[in-house]
Amino acid sequence: MKRSIEQIDLAGRHVFLRADLNAPLEGGAVTDDTRLTAVLPTIRYALERGAALVLASHLGRPKGGPDPKYSLQPVAERLASLLDRPVPLAPDCVGERVEAMAGALKPGEVLLLENLRFHPEEEANDDDFARRLAALADVYVNDAFAAAHRAHASIAAITRHLQPAVAGLLMRRELEALGRILESPARPLAAVLGGAKVSDKIALVEHLLARVDVLVIGGGMAFTFLRALGHGVGTSLVEPDRVETARTALETARRRGVQVALPVDAVVAAGLDSPSGRAVAIRDIPSGQMGLDIGPLTVERFAAVLRTAKTIVWNGPMGVFEKPAFATGTVALARAVAESPAFSVIGGGDTVAAVNQAGVADRIGYISTAGGAFLEFLEGRPLPGLEALAEA
Ligand code: AMP
Repeated sequence: MKRSIEQIDLAGRHVFLRADLNAPLEGGAVTDDTRLTAVLPTIRYALERGAALVLASHLGRPKGGPDPKYSLQPVAERLASLLDRPVPLAPDCVGERVEAMAGALKPGEVLLLENLRFHPEEEANDDDFARRLAALADVYVNDAFAAAHRAHASIAAITRHLQPAVAGLLMRRELEALGRILESPARPLAAVLGGAKVSDKIALVEHLLARVDVLVIGGGMAFTFLRALGHGVGTSLVEPDRVETARTALETARRRGVQVALPVDAVVAAGLDSPSGRAVAIRDIPSGQMGLDIGPLTVERFAAVLRTAKTIVWNGPMGVFEKPAFATGTVALARAVAESPAFSVIGGGDTVAAVNQAGVADRIGYISTAGGAFLEFLEGRPLPGLEALAEA
């Protein structure tokens, strides 16, 4: 485990807190403050211990220059109301004026820097830019697990110039929950994977096959696996160049004694825009139709498998859940995960949305704030943000 904010003295120090405040905006206001509330414990912790806080984040994907559309102003306003104290926004994230503003901060005060991505040097992991960010504080805290897979200046290069460099409370919680999946899970450990593409998830499948007892596969990606088993799947999403990879993965699973659960029925329709679909057995998928959700028998089967699990990790919808006609399977799976006695960990925007839609968020063991970083961590890939903390 990385060193955390709880292991250093913060009193009277200027703390650079890299958070992920990349919240969705509409009409100049934050529409979902999940990412903001997730970092509040770290902010409060630092302020209560007498730190002067310099908060930094990216927002959206501005094209390498300042763009009012991507200003953190709405985030500053929402944070101020959540914290019930002023959160002024600096006009930039580096430079003399910002240095003066940060330098003038007193213990217990907060300054939010403007969008880090207004400077292309941020995403280039530029060393000089990192040095200019580092000049704003004397302690570095990374609480942006959701951005830890990015080798960006405020995440990676900065720890060469600003030490101590430690993990925040949210980062620590994320690493504990996800570490529990990879390191010492209560068994049986079940992984549930869904979403569109095998190509996006194959590295994850391969890494998980060495660790899980059960692999549940739904969503569009299931059809490439079903094709590998010789099923005709109509016009369902299949990646022809991944059929062989899927076959190899199934063979690996068999050799290792990993149980693989695939759909036995699907809700099919002519296309994504069909107003409704009907459930058929996988072997009965008509040639001109595509599977857009898992069927009721599959839901029952998957739920039965999950009831016997002691640990569950889930990423990816079971169908085209954005469309109400094809959301049933994903919502039912969310309920099955919640009802299982297992400790469950979920991640990824779609999966979190599904759990919220099913109204079962409070019965999930841990809901990660990350999508890409969640997947890369579970793939066993080194995350630049974590490596930078370890090296510092
Ligand atoms: P991902 O980003 O890989 O997790 O994929 C999420 C997307 O997969 C969602 O937008 C779903 O609509 C889509 N998806 C899930 N199941 C299917 C399916 N059976 N056919 C086509 N797309 C699907």
